[in-house]
Amino acid sequence: MMTGDEPAGVPPGGGRGDMDRPLPVIDEMSSPYWEGAREHRLVLLRCPDCRVFVHPPRPSCPRCRSERLDPEEVTGRGQVYSWSVMRSPGNPGFEGRLPYAVLVVELAEQPGLFTIGNVVDCPLEDIEIGMSVEVTWERIDDTITLPQWRPAQTVGSGSAGASRA
Ligand SMILES: [Zn+2]
Repeated sequence: MMTGDEPAGVPPGGGRGDMDRPLPVIDEMSSPYWEGAREHRLVLLRCPDCRVFVHPPRPSCPRCRSERLDPEEVTGRGQVYSWSVMRSPGNPGFEGRLPYAVLVVELAEQPGLFTIGNVVDCPLEDIEIGMSVEVTWERIDDTITLPQWRPAQTVGSGSAGASRA
């Protein structure tokens, strides 16, 4: 699928690498998350009243129904809660990446606080439930930087600065 106004041979999006790879759409609720990602910070919404983290973003707190949620940076550390390996493309844009793993990561900040991403710097056969992982960043373009997950390095200096692969 070409977008129509690009010369042949140039991937749609002007060099995003993966043809037609679906990318997130940024809206008002998710913009703090994506702004943080551009700066290599994992930023989630948190309820200022009951302190629960809310992710994926939603308009109100699921626990106390507060309608004010504030962005807050988290450590970017967690554990593999579950995972699966994709061997056939659900979307043609991912074909060149097969096989790849999709992780459900339970973040260190809060039991039951999950996020989803791909694993990098880790052979698929080494992935285990309970494995400690940390966020790393895959820049797609000026707008989108994707959080990805790699085995935790034992440097203990937080997420900032540890993300340059
Ligand atoms: Zn709340």
